Amino acid sequence: MEQVVIIGSGPAGLTAALYTARSQLSPLLITGSTLGGQAASSSEIENYPGFPEGISGMELTQLMQKQAERFGARVEMDEVTEVNLRQHPFSIKTYGAEYQTKTLIIASGVSPRLLGVPGEERFKGRGVSYCATCDGFFYRDKAVAVVGGGDAAVGEAIYLTRFAKKVYIIHRRDELRAQKIVQERALQNEKIEMVWNSVVTAVLGQEQVSSLSVKNVKTGEESTLSVDGMFSYIGSIPNTQLFDGQLQLDEQGYIVTNRAMHTSVPGVFAAGDVQERILKQVSTAVGSGAMAAMQAEKFIAELEGHTYPERQS
Ligand code: NAP
Repeated sequence: MEQVVIIGSGPAGLTAALYTARSQLSPLLITGSTLGGQAASSSEIENYPGFPEGISGMELTQLMQKQAERFGARVEMDEVTEVNLRQHPFSIKTYGAEYQTKTLIIASGVSPRLLGVPGEERFKGRGVSYCATCDGFFYRDKAVAVVGGGDAAVGEAIYLTRFAKKVYIIHRRDELRAQKIVQERALQNEKIEMVWNSVVTAVLGQEQVSSLSVKNVKTGEESTLSVDGMFSYIGSIPNTQLFDGQLQLDEQGYIVTNRAMHTSVPGVFAAGDVQERILKQVSTAVGSGAMAAMQAEKFIAELEGHTYPERQS
């Protein structure tokens, strides 16, 4: 019987592991398919306090893991395939094992939203990518397009200029959503060219991507943009399919929690992007991970008839 199982290895899950480990609950963290979650694919994180020169997402999440493990967190490289939250203790199935647990912290994060245009599926891994840090290197001296106007799109477009000779940012409006400091850097970068008011309507090529069909949404004009790759960053969707019908989800599929990270099932908590709709940042994920951990500890103490020592600081 586990005290705490944590699903997800992004900043929220790793922080929950750190806190529950320090509470001597020997947490079991199941990583999911991407170690470090979405944060690990961020080329550079400049707004997480404590790293004045910035830090890569991969390095930051590796440090978080090391810190959690130092206090006794167990990190399993596996994926959850089924959960039963209808009876307590909860049961969790993975590809490799089955667990019973007194509490569950869900930090399963989000996945990239797909464009849903012809050619996107076909050219995945052959020119279509959702991770510049993973695939950017393959585009040395090539031309690529980044789709989207948020922090991820603009930040990763800047990163791609390290390799590519030309980076187009295709955005459906004439104004970016990304933070001002990131916008300014992109607009001043000579390798970046903005393609405003435009959407991708198809990804084209033979074996590899060779061009994109692009439509100007203001004029209706269709054109072809020659590129070797397309990086799409048009937002994300929550990874909550496993919990559908067992936990309250909102209309967009995010897990509904109260301010203390309690879900609709007592003993089940959620943290990080899977429940965060207002500000998806490493700093907010870390905060909600810590909160979920303390609430799990409290739940276990009450279950065992102990009084939970309310912390003042
Ligand atoms: P986002 O902020 O939701 O931006 C998504 C972008 O994609 C928007 O510009 C949106 O256009 C566009 N878009 C959405 N659906 C589209 C479609 N069907 N076709 C074409 N374009 C479409 O997502 P994100 O950039 O992944 O960021 C997610 C969260 O993580 C945000 O809160 C962001 O601040 C945070 N984040 C922070 C950092 C950082 O601080 N370093 C880095 C990465 C992400 P519109 O603008 O017209 O809506």
